Amino acid sequence: MFNRIALALIVLIAVPYYWLLMERGPTSAPMLPIDLARLRAEAAKIPGPRPQAVEYAVVASQRTPGTLLVAGGGLKTEETGVFVWRLVTPGGDTIINAGLTQDQALASGFANFDASVQTAVLDWLSKAQRILFTSEDIDHIGGLVALVPSAGEVAGKVAANDAQIRAIGQLAPRLAKALAAPVEPLSLSLPASKVASKGYAALAPGIAAVRTPGHLPGSQMIYVQLQDGREYLFAGDTAPMRRNVSWLRPRSRYAAHWQGSEDRSATMGWIKGLAALQTRYPRLKLVFGHDLGWLQDKENGPQFVAASTQPAPPASQSATTGAARRTDPST
Ligand SMILES: [Zn+2]
Repeated sequence: MFNRIALALIVLIAVPYYWLLMERGPTSAPMLPIDLARLRAEAAKIPGPRPQAVEYAVVASQRTPGTLLVAGGGLKTEETGVFVWRLVTPGGDTIINAGLTQDQALASGFANFDASVQTAVLDWLSKAQRILFTSEDIDHIGGLVALVPSAGEVAGKVAANDAQIRAIGQLAPRLAKALAAPVEPLSLSLPASKVASKGYAALAPGIAAVRTPGHLPGSQMIYVQLQDGREYLFAGDTAPMRRNVSWLRPRSRYAAHWQGSEDRSATMGWIKGLAALQTRYPRLKLVFGHDLGWLQDKENGPQFVAASTQPAPPASQSATTGAARRTDPST
């Protein structure tokens, strides 16, 4: 009798647990290469001042079992977060991702939402020269809903790919209507293996992107070369955690398929591509999409500067700064 109960428990608990959370995924998926020389060449195409520094904002956070975002990564919980990146640039910043609203954060499972940080992010977005996204997930584009009243102004700064524009259209139709055409050649409807050779685009001085469909159709990685030569590759949700690359594991099947609709084979291919890149170019810093522990790791983290969450000065007080920026000869 006991054996039967034990067996039933194994079937009912252990098998689904293994299948949904432990199983390593498509480990034999072919590597999808990421061409750093090509990214460097694209980033050098547009003349002008390159970014000087990277700042980050943690809009929301939660502790999640390690195995959720790194298949088989154990039940020990890890700090994960929703991040927005600010590439501080003379003449106008580039912002990567838009954060999200409190309702969107709660619906996405992020229990800790910091309204003052999201307010600072909205200020970044409204003053930015350019807005980019690593994917069309709600935790990357959600914050745009607050900017719909100034849709015309904001839309001119958004440089998104076709899949991202479709998602923005569902979230904020008025904003999407004002958006320009998708960034070519990132507007590709090709299988991941073909995109690997074609989906590169220059976005700004020192900034380029490569389309990496898999986590979502609009997933892309953003390459940044600062003025002092430091290089970063923002991997987004393809590698949300440092261990996705160091362990060569994608997110769990539960997170990939039940919480999302990820093509796990393609994602695994890009993860292998990231690992190969890291071996060949050890000085290139990979930027993981949701790994708060890594982000705040003083020794091995990226050493980005945390954003100030001081409320932005009212428009009348910031006018001088704005005017000074517009007349900056470097723009
Ligand atoms: Zn995400």
